[in-house]
Amino acid sequence: MTEQHTFQAEVQQLLQLMIHSLYSEREIFLRELISNSADACDKLRFEALTDSALMAGDDQLRVRIVADSDAGTLSITDNGIGLTQDEAVEHLGTIARSGTKAFVEQLKAAGKDSDAASLIGQFGVGFYSSFMVAERVVVESRSARSSSDEGVRWSSTGDGSFETESIARAQRGTTITLHLKDDAKEFLETWRLRSLIKKYSDFVAYPVMLPKEVKEDEEPEDEQVNESQALWTRPKDDISDEQYNEFYRGACKQWDEPATRLHFNVEGQLEFTALLFIPSQKPMDLFERDRRGLNLYVRRVFIMDDCTDLLPEYLRFVRGVIDSSDLPLNVSREMLQQQAIIAKIKKILTRRILDHLESLARSEDASEQATFQSIDRTFGPVIREGLVNDPEQKERLSKLARYQSTWTVEQDEAADPAPEHPTRTGLADYVARMSEGQESIYYVTAPSLSAARSSPQLEGYRAKGYEVLLMTEPVDDYAMQYGSLGEFDGKKLVHIAKGAADLEDDESKKALEEARERYADFCGYATEQLPGIKEVRVSNRLTDSPACLVHDDGALSEGMEEMMRRFGQDVPEQERILELNPNHELVSRLHERFAGDNKDGIGDWLHLLRDQAHLAEGGAVKDGAAIAKRMQKLMAQAL
Ligand code: ADP
Repeated sequence: MTEQHTFQAEVQQLLQLMIHSLYSEREIFLRELISNSADACDKLRFEALTDSALMAGDDQLRVRIVADSDAGTLSITDNGIGLTQDEAVEHLGTIARSGTKAFVEQLKAAGKDSDAASLIGQFGVGFYSSFMVAERVVVESRSARSSSDEGVRWSSTGDGSFETESIARAQRGTTITLHLKDDAKEFLETWRLRSLIKKYSDFVAYPVMLPKEVKEDEEPEDEQVNESQALWTRPKDDISDEQYNEFYRGACKQWDEPATRLHFNVEGQLEFTALLFIPSQKPMDLFERDRRGLNLYVRRVFIMDDCTDLLPEYLRFVRGVIDSSDLPLNVSREMLQQQAIIAKIKKILTRRILDHLESLARSEDASEQATFQSIDRTFGPVIREGLVNDPEQKERLSKLARYQSTWTVEQDEAADPAPEHPTRTGLADYVARMSEGQESIYYVTAPSLSAARSSPQLEGYRAKGYEVLLMTEPVDDYAMQYGSLGEFDGKKLVHIAKGAADLEDDESKKALEEARERYADFCGYATEQLPGIKEVRVSNRLTDSPACLVHDDGALSEGMEEMMRRFGQDVPEQERILELNPNHELVSRLHERFAGDNKDGIGDWLHLLRDQAHLAEGGAVKDGAAIAKRMQKLMAQAL
């Protein structure tokens, strides 16, 4: 009895978009199907570790590809884990990954073919890519756990619905038969298939077989086309860039070119091989924090994918494989966390990845530097999460952090008013540029570069010629607030809008002292007038603006406050400090009026001074009506 099913709406949309936008790359369907078959063999081999009966009678796992020119079909058969009817309906009718909906929306918006193609690639095309070359796809399968009369046939023409029925199937595993479209008959040619297998699937760990071309009187025979040796077990020097990249695409299910890779063996007390890649594009799931892209093998046997325990969260974008000689083969996900070996491997991987990044950053080679810069642009903010989460790697992480600064912005502007990739500086380079007499590393955090650059608090530092780092990512705010990075190279990191400004030399210190005395009564009066303001004081932080708002040391920054509110946390309104510029006409005139007989309206002026300081730093107007009233009143008086 056949049953009718409809594809999940997103699958239908994805199919349409894929067929149209990936046309020129449609040969990759073969890679995708072979990779699915290899995954199915991996799963069976793993399950058979605890239930050897699953493999009984057929323990040579392999993938077999047969073209039938008369029928116009291409079939891909594996003797892996197979599918039950329910599994076929579930896995071949939906896309399980979260974010699919959002992804399809993005895809539709991308419009242009090339954009859509690269987006689809990030998402992974998998089984559905068969519809790029086939007008009808038939999947016949039997799960390793089912008997020979519990097979399933799944079929579809890819236009919205599919059918399933139960069938008898003697062999365990899956056969996917593609009824090729007229313009895809090239995939029936043996030479074409052979070259595609070599190109994309040479290092798939199972033999990929094609029927040998034999004379009529000879027995039919298969031959193995691929190398079928796990790539990571081969010496580095024997592997070409091409082969590495194909492995990255096939086995790690990536689309882009890797930005860089690391391939190393660890020997001694602990023995493992790692082949790691850093993508060049942001993966779709970058913000799924518990996703990690490492596959774990034990002595070449696949154990699990997305192994979370091998990498810290802030390196979640790294892809690749780890092959350990020390773990037991029957290790399960649950057991893994308790294995001391895993924690040790994680530590070594973390160190090696960070060291590798640093060596790229410091390299004399321009292309390696460029690689680091592009990784920093793509993943820098994720890596800097480590400054909060991994105090142990503080040293290494602080060397990798890059920021724009008042200096880099000036350099860029002098060279090109709209640079494609703004220059970013590391802390070591900042320290090397520090002016004489400068003791700390200064930074400001803000929601955007323009907000950071227009911080009134910058004025005093600019006047002194001190460089200030402009940190604009939410993670930087968070890392500076809660992270371990209090110092670098013995220099304190100081937020320019927190605590007292430390810009004084002897002369200006004297001037400031004098201003403080002169303004003492006025400041006391102003503090009383302004609810929500903890203190009004004079400072030398400002040169052009009359006033600015600053925080106490240790208080939450604006950005942080905003972020916590966005995440639904109840953050009490924080009292801030209003700092006045004693050399500004507005402030000195107000002071004069205060010293005179007529104190009328001073309260209004003070309120307005506070409000405009709030506006100047990019704050949102909270009580617009009251501000407008006050302005009208003062304007009327002034006219
Ligand atoms: P992905 O491989 O990224 O999960 P696919 O769309 O390629 O996505 O495949 C969907 C699911 O269908 C797989 O996760 C797997 O469960 C199942 N599947 C596909 N091909 C096979 C196969 N040859 N044998 C067994 N299961 C398969």
